[in-house]
Amino acid sequence: MDLYLFILTFIIGITVGSFLNVLILRLPKGEDVIFDRSHCGSCEKIIHWYENIPLISYIFLRGKCSKCNSRISLQYPLIELITGLFALLIIPKYISSLNALVFIMKLGVFSIFLTIFVIDLRHKIIPNILNILLFVILLLTSVLTFSWQYIVFGIVIGVGFPSIVTWAFYKLKGEIGLGMGDIKLYGALGAYLGPIGIIHNIFLSCFLGSFIVGSMMILGKVGRRTKIAFGPFIVIIAFFQFFYPEYFSQLMSLFIFT
Ligand SMILES: [Zn+2]
Repeated sequence: MDLYLFILTFIIGITVGSFLNVLILRLPKGEDVIFDRSHCGSCEKIIHWYENIPLISYIFLRGKCSKCNSRISLQYPLIELITGLFALLIIPKYISSLNALVFIMKLGVFSIFLTIFVIDLRHKIIPNILNILLFVILLLTSVLTFSWQYIVFGIVIGVGFPSIVTWAFYKLKGEIGLGMGDIKLYGALGAYLGPIGIIHNIFLSCFLGSFIVGSMMILGKVGRRTKIAFGPFIVIIAFFQFFYPEYFSQLMSLFIFT
């Protein structure tokens, strides 16, 4: 494979990752993600463009602010690196057909998954704009591929099924299970995964979530009343459904409900 293209793809990936850091930092605070200048979280120093080069600046600054020396979170280079590696991982599939649009779509979906994962984990929220963006990208992809019945039933089940379960749970125990952000996320995914795919996701994400949260409770890491971020579990399952459908169907054949 062409080395030049490989490097270019990695640069695109880490640059997208750099923007994801901005989203992760600012969306939960409701700040402008396009026009505000980046500044140090401790001393408010404006960060110059040459201090904001993905991966490279972190290495040159040795992970510290150039003015106040406070540590820059490892999360920044990590998000950049993950996005860069993911771009490299998917580019060989689309290189022969030079299908740039598919590449952009896949990188976009991955970016939203990663952003939801980190924001929900840290703040226990899924910003509306991320669900809307995801829905638009998936819907545009779906209308070119699937029938309208597939899309509509996917969305209806994605929103409806978790809503009913959450409502019943609330009536029975007086506790709120899933948040609105989670339900919207299921709805957005349903537009692409379809009725069967979204049911798979709902079951597996609940299974994974119960398993991990249950284990943490046994280990005493979380209490019974601790608010749990559910988005990361949904996103992990969706990642495999979306990017590794062949492995996913093999896994699903182990279950009865395929
Ligand atoms: Zn500083």
